[in-house]
Amino acid sequence: MKYVIVTGGVLSGLGKGITASSIGVLMKSVGLRVTSIKIDPYLNSDAGTMSPFEHGEVFVLDDGGEADLDLGNYERFLDVSLTKDHNITTGKVYSSVIERERKGDYLGKTVQVIPHITNEIQDWIERVSILPTDGSGKTPDACVIELGGTVGDIESSPFVEALRQFQFRVGRENVCFVHVSLVPVMGPVGEQKTKPTQHTVKELRGLGITPDLIVCRSNEPLHEEVKEKLAAFCHVEPNAVISAHDVSNLYQIPISFEQQGVRVMIANCLGVKMTASDQYLDRWRAMADRVDKFEEIVRIAMVGKYTGLSDSYLSVIKALQHSSIAVNRKLVIDWIESTDLDTAMMNNNKTAYDRAWEKLKLADGILVPGGFGNRGVEGKIEAARYARTSGIPYLGICLGLQIATIEFCRNVLNLDGANSEEFVDNPDELEHKAVVFMPEISKTHMGGTMRLGAKITPFVVEDCKIKRLYGNKDEVSERHRHRYEVNPDLIDSIESAGLIYVGKDETGQRCEIMELLDHPYFVGTQYHPEFKSRPGRPSPPFLGLLRASIGEQL
Ligand code: GLN
Repeated sequence: MKYVIVTGGVLSGLGKGITASSIGVLMKSVGLRVTSIKIDPYLNSDAGTMSPFEHGEVFVLDDGGEADLDLGNYERFLDVSLTKDHNITTGKVYSSVIERERKGDYLGKTVQVIPHITNEIQDWIERVSILPTDGSGKTPDACVIELGGTVGDIESSPFVEALRQFQFRVGRENVCFVHVSLVPVMGPVGEQKTKPTQHTVKELRGLGITPDLIVCRSNEPLHEEVKEKLAAFCHVEPNAVISAHDVSNLYQIPISFEQQGVRVMIANCLGVKMTASDQYLDRWRAMADRVDKFEEIVRIAMVGKYTGLSDSYLSVIKALQHSSIAVNRKLVIDWIESTDLDTAMMNNNKTAYDRAWEKLKLADGILVPGGFGNRGVEGKIEAARYARTSGIPYLGICLGLQIATIEFCRNVLNLDGANSEEFVDNPDELEHKAVVFMPEISKTHMGGTMRLGAKITPFVVEDCKIKRLYGNKDEVSERHRHRYEVNPDLIDSIESAGLIYVGKDETGQRCEIMELLDHPYFVGTQYHPEFKSRPGRPSPPFLGLLRASIGEQL
């Protein structure tokens, strides 16, 4: 097993995840079977209990793991399906060591960070890196490991130490260390400054890890003399200083790295023979170039509550992009803060209200993504009403399906004040429950207790748009993350009025996919199809939205 270990310095948000996954793409292109592990040095067991405001979206895995969004980058770039164990957190490592201590596994010993925590980390990496992840059932040849945070943080130090030891455990010739840093540009002539990188590499080397490659984020390509200076101060060859400058789209990053010799350097560092032809990379290049060329636009309104922070909906954006490439359009996402669409806003802030409605009405299609809590739901309900009544394509994901159901109950079935139990203070007093708490969900524990992960959804109708989009399959498997569901008692009346739940769970009770009759495209899924969308293999519900939005008849 070969390992590429990616660390970061100076500041967070430099795109370590994208660097690591781009390197993974290059390794795949030399014929290796590549998997990946993300290390997050926080105390939470997983990302499920963290706010998307603070930490970006929670990425849901097949096995129900609620993981850091970087696992999404790996799944999309490397076309793998990872498990919750591929996301190592401080919380998980300590829980495991403490549990073993209680069982008596270390009887008689003082349990310490070194060696017990650091060994646990190394054992974990070795155990998980060999799990097959690409669907072939075969053991991977190489594993890209990304260490979250920045080197020098208190949180990450046990992991840095574990990785330092790890190079000796598995052999230095099987490990390639990549450090991602920042080269800021200062002054009137735009000087590229090397000092932050010098310092972070010094710190890393002080901790016993010598990088084989240094990847420098900067706006413009690094100047040759800057590379030479960094090489001299950081104990690497000048060609091992890689420029990670701004590019026109994400898919260009592996291509830019390849042009700078990264593929050959990593292969040499790990002693692997380059066996594959360039077909794989050529396909990437073709996709990257195509994305830059689209001129015609498709406009999708995203009606949500974290509209300022695109990381909160990262996989949804990616899924929209995959589909927009498939329909040869440049994607424009118009973010609409759902509270601004609420009629209450008309009196509070008429300008914001008018602007939001103007934007919504310009859209070719509307998407209401997943979400929790009642803030902004009335505005989302308004957006669904508008889409339903004016024939604008609509895709509702998870909460978005529930929203469309509430709207339908209120305005078509005339169930006044119909709502979800989630959005009212006193659910027992709610007269028309369109959406209810699922019986099996814990009311006391928040972590990992939702209905999570991949589940089978059989279609329960012969023919419908969304079934055709899924290639007329009898059933689909998609990932879930929710606590509430459409009220089973209302299904019959909703369906007889024309909103059909065309996919149900295996018991035939739980609503999974909805589609409105006599509408160009009005679809909702209780699951999150965005997590399984891939470049070149767009998720069907998204593809349907985009195709309908450019006026195709489905
Ligand atoms: N809050 C809703 C529920 O728990 C929807 C969840 C979601 O959109 N992921 O059912």
